[in-house]
Amino acid sequence: MSSPGITRRILRWYARHGRALPWRRSVDPYAIWVSEVMLQQTRVDTVVPFYERFLSRFPTVESLAAAPLQDVLKAWENMGYYSRARNFHKAAGVIVRQMGGRIPATYDELIRLPGVGRYTASAVLSIAFRKRVLALDGNVKRVICRLFAVKAPLDERRTLKKIEMLGSDLLPGKDSSSFNQALMDLGATICMDRNPVCDICPVREHCLAFSRNIQGRVPLRRKRASIPHREMTASVIRDRRGRVLVVQRPAAGLLGGLWKFPGGEKSGAETLTQAAQRTVHEEVGLRARAGAEIGTIRHTFTHFRMRLHVFECRKTGGKTHARGCARWQWAAPGTLQSLPFSKADRRIIEMIMPDWSARRKAE
Ligand code: SF4
Repeated sequence: MSSPGITRRILRWYARHGRALPWRRSVDPYAIWVSEVMLQQTRVDTVVPFYERFLSRFPTVESLAAAPLQDVLKAWENMGYYSRARNFHKAAGVIVRQMGGRIPATYDELIRLPGVGRYTASAVLSIAFRKRVLALDGNVKRVICRLFAVKAPLDERRTLKKIEMLGSDLLPGKDSSSFNQALMDLGATICMDRNPVCDICPVREHCLAFSRNIQGRVPLRRKRASIPHREMTASVIRDRRGRVLVVQRPAAGLLGGLWKFPGGEKSGAETLTQAAQRTVHEEVGLRARAGAEIGTIRHTFTHFRMRLHVFECRKTGGKTHARGCARWQWAAPGTLQSLPFSKADRRIIEMIMPDWSARRKAE
């Protein structure tokens, strides 16, 4: 079948089976952009409630640009990949200050904004501004690879070029927005990474991977390198009023701008207790004695796994000041709820809350 035939089938399938997602009801470029930023690293079903809450909190690019970064990170809390939120906030500032609050409608302008890569620029152009461009996300790449039995590894530049060329040939003259979203849905619901459901696929008869029975091997997967493991500590230090010490991470880097319990990575031959005491001193200048380990949290990031040992610590000397952190504060439960924390630090809060309530009752 010719390219127009495949395109027609995919569009027909989309008209009947496309997912009803909240951003698809919107024609507002800002709202569409929000969804694309969130969808970069996060599954659709996770994104939906975040998207709705985020838009009611920051309904316009102006409201986002005017908000403190901490509020934006709070709205992003638990979605991970926080550099997306930091960059998005920065980009909103650029749009308001330098572009009169207008979301740019050209590739060259979009790609220059913080955090905007090829995919996001193309998706915004196609979906928000109805431009005829292919938006190549992971699902779309996989579908095209299989349709044309492209066997080369996806992370090679020339493979991407080939996929882009093949995909662009499929784009309809009008409504490339629907076509891009159709490919995304096809990849997410039928042509899945593992176990594609070819029996119900609208383009099965025209799929080269299916006809050669190689759909399980296309696209080629590289063996993942094993990721390192880190032993980390976090310290719960209380002041006389029972508040706990929390520190804000520097703005750049992993989880930048989020709050945490003081601590860090164990190094060399030191014990976990020594690591807890050393890292507290390095971050906030306090001398502390680590007591009982009150819990262990395991968490996996993209590039490392960690086991986080949580200690009750007692302040023994020193003056609190921001040495290795951006800011610090003694926080009561209400403050802890209002600050943005990573998932692992949220679990520490959950861990200490019952104890907190018990202390209150005992007073
Ligand atoms: Fe994917 Fe199978 Fe459809 Fe080919 S036939 S596009 S492999 S679901």
